[in-house]
Amino acid sequence: MTESNRLRIAIQKSGRLSTDSQQLLKSCGVKFSINEQRLIAHADNMPIDLLRVRDDDIPGLVMDGVVDMGIIGENVLEEEQIERQTLNKPADCLKLRQLDFGSCRLSLAVPTEFSYADASSLEGLRIATSYPNLLRRFMQQKGITYRDCMLKGSVEVAPRAGLADGICDLVSTGATLEANGLYETEVIYRSMACIIQSTQTQTPTKQALIDKILSRVNGVIRARE
Ligand code: ATP
Ligand code: ZN
Repeated sequence: MTESNRLRIAIQKSGRLSTDSQQLLKSCGVKFSINEQRLIAHADNMPIDLLRVRDDDIPGLVMDGVVDMGIIGENVLEEEQIERQTLNKPADCLKLRQLDFGSCRLSLAVPTEFSYADASSLEGLRIATSYPNLLRRFMQQKGITYRDCMLKGSVEVAPRAGLADGICDLVSTGATLEANGLYETEVIYRSMACIIQSTQTQTPTKQALIDKILSRVNGVIRARE
């Protein structure tokens, strides 16, 4: 029984988007309490279930129609979209709106001693990243060939460990780069959190609830501006 009359919203279980995502839904009047051990939190006052998962899983769950909505970083959404287009898997979803948290940038960075003129300074070199698709798109646009070093974590230590010449990683303040003897040379993608909806058929009742939530999200964000 995978269909549900309740609206399913996927949010990050724990990480940089979790508190803000939960807070936003609470500000929209969705009443729920989180049990850390549980994947699902049922709202008390609306037919809504919150699915608490790894952020990387959220775009796919929405694109496959497993959940109706999701709150996710645009960086992860875009990366998954390119990945799925390459693999001919369902890659559509509706971006309902950008949110007012989760600000970061995906940037190229190199060791302090590296003399960097522009992205072509990376020609033929190895770049560590968790975002191979966004990096490939950027480098293709510039006509630069490079070698991949795919890492899901610890990207910033790759140059010092001798695994890569530079990195392409998320930055917000730049403190982590500095701590690892790196400096930011180029922003390749600017990101915020966003709220997305599945393109797969919604019942009119569910669509009405989505519209209600979106209108409340708009109100909450306007009030915070
Ligand atoms: P998960 O366990 O869910 O996979 P994660 O480690 O992949 O978590 P987080 O570090 O919690 O992810 O980041 C989630 C999202 O927060 C990022 O994809 C990005 O959109 C946003 N974000 C905002 N600032 C930063 C930052 N300085 N570094 C990384 N991500 C940031
Ligand atoms: Zn993740």
